[in-house]
Formats: sequence, C-alpha cells, structure tokens
Amino acid sequence: MKRISVLGTLVLAGALTVAVAAQQPAPQPSVDNLTVEKVKDNLWVIRGGGGNTAVFATAKGVTVVDTKNPGWGQALLDKIKTITDKPITTVINTHTHYDHVSGNITMPSSVEIIAHENTARRMPLFSTVTGRGESENVFKANPGKGLAKRTFKDKLTIGTGADQINLYYFGPAHTGGDAFVEFPALHVLHAGDVFARKGVPLIDADNGGSGVQFASTIRKAIAGVKNVDTIINGHTPAQTTPAEMREFADFVTDFVAHVQAAKKAGKTAAEAIKTWTAPAKYKDYAAPDATQATAWAQVIMDETK
Ligand SMILES: [Zn+2]
Repeated sequence: MKRISVLGTLVLAGALTVAVAAQQPAPQPSVDNLTVEKVKDNLWVIRGGGGNTAVFATAKGVTVVDTKNPGWGQALLDKIKTITDKPITTVINTHTHYDHVSGNITMPSSVEIIAHENTARRMPLFSTVTGRGESENVFKANPGKGLAKRTFKDKLTIGTGADQINLYYFGPAHTGGDAFVEFPALHVLHAGDVFARKGVPLIDADNGGSGVQFASTIRKAIAGVKNVDTIINGHTPAQTTPAEMREFADFVTDFVAHVQAAKKAGKTAAEAIKTWTAPAKYKDYAAPDATQATAWAQVIMDETK
C-alpha cells in the first residue's frame, strides 16, 4: 500500500515537473479532456479546450457552433462522434478569437463555415486581443483552410422547422463581429463571448469591440430574440437564463459608468479598476484580473469623449 502511494507520488511529481518545464499547465488536447452535456433534444454543449461548443443534430447533418483552441480540432471531432453518427455539414463561429475558431482547420473540407462578415474578414488577420496580447492564428499557418465563406450582416436563417437556426448581429460588444446563434424550436440562444461569464467583460478593441456599446448590444439581443429560455455562454460551466443575461447587461452598464466617472474625475484606467468593486446585488460575479481589466477600462475611456 505504502509502496504504491510513494510510486504514485513520484509519478505525480514527475508529471508536474514535465508540465512546469513545458509551461503547459492547461489540459492537453484529448477527447477525455472534453465533457458533453445535453441541453435539449438534438442539442449538446461540449466544454473544455476553449470556448463552449454547441452541437446541433438536424435531419441533414450536424451544425457545430465554435471549434475551440489551436490543437483541439481532432479531439472535438472525436467527441462529436460519441454524440451522433451524422456528418458535420456546418460550422458557425460566434467571433474571431482563437479559442472559438481554431478547430475550423480540422473540419472536413465539405463543411460550410458561417460567420458575421466582420469576423470572416478578421479570421485570417487577427493577431492580438486587447488585454491579452499576442494571439495564435492557425489560419496563417494553414492558408485557405477553415475560413468562413458564408457571411451575414444583420440576420441569417438556415434550415426550417425543427432544424432552423437564426444568426443575428446586434452591434459591437466583445468584438466587432459577435454573432448570436438562436435555435428557435428549442428556445436556446448561444451568446458566445458577449456573455462569456459573470464578470468584467473582455472588450477587444483590437478586433472591433466596444465597451460603450456593449450593454446596449446585449439589450438588443434580449429584445430581438424572443421566446428564449436557455442561454449557452462562451465560457460558463453551466447554461444561464435570459434573466441572468439581463442582469449582466446591468452589470456592464454599471461598470462602464464607473470607468466613465473615473475618467471625468481625472483618474487613470488603472485607478478606475483599483476602485471598482461589483455592487453586492451581482452575486457570483468574479473579480477581474487587474492588468487585463485596466486594458478594457482604457478602451472605455478612449471611446468616451
Ligand atoms: Zn472571445
């Protein structure tokens, strides 16, 4: 017993040393590091390896919303095979970030890839994310592969009846090309990273995002997409509700007002973040990383005349 425990400790210590040496504490791409959760009939969420992926099985085939981090495409394909035998026909990208698009290059060439026109334009170009810095772009290393060929401006409907999907653009927020993806027959909306999690939002001005317009974009989505009861978020560990998205819009409004008041008082973005605490009514809201949030507060200040 003791022998096994010592051996186990040594193996664990060795694994940790390797992980630290390679500076890769994050889980490695593997089908076992992805989890599946059924949302409704014919709709699942696959978590891990980047943003939350929606998998929607239709009569004609499978539609996948977002395709995870660089290196995770094959693991995602393998995980989808554990859900359905149907072929993947369509990929939708909610926005241009590497943790939502990189698996595109692993998809069969027959798959139609759809994104907002601004996201389709940025996908081959993006190189930085505001507050996060350098960003891996798999499309530069794989020219011509995995790019969105079908685009939309304000709204696009694909399929009919039980298989219908509506894509909407309501203005800049997290980026300048955020798509909301509605599954109307199921009353489900994938909000991508416009509502990634409960906390200070990432405002990626490098890719067209806007802090000042962020909350109104969320409210346009709430008003414009009716009969939703379940929201799939960019990164949360569980689905949220429209009421929680409404509360998030209020949170963003309060955060932006705080930063704008700080600017008016002659304070810097760093000072604005230092003096920010979420009002107590926002339960379960995470405190932001100060360095990143300072960059996002700076975006708000730059947008505020
Ligand atoms: Zn993102």
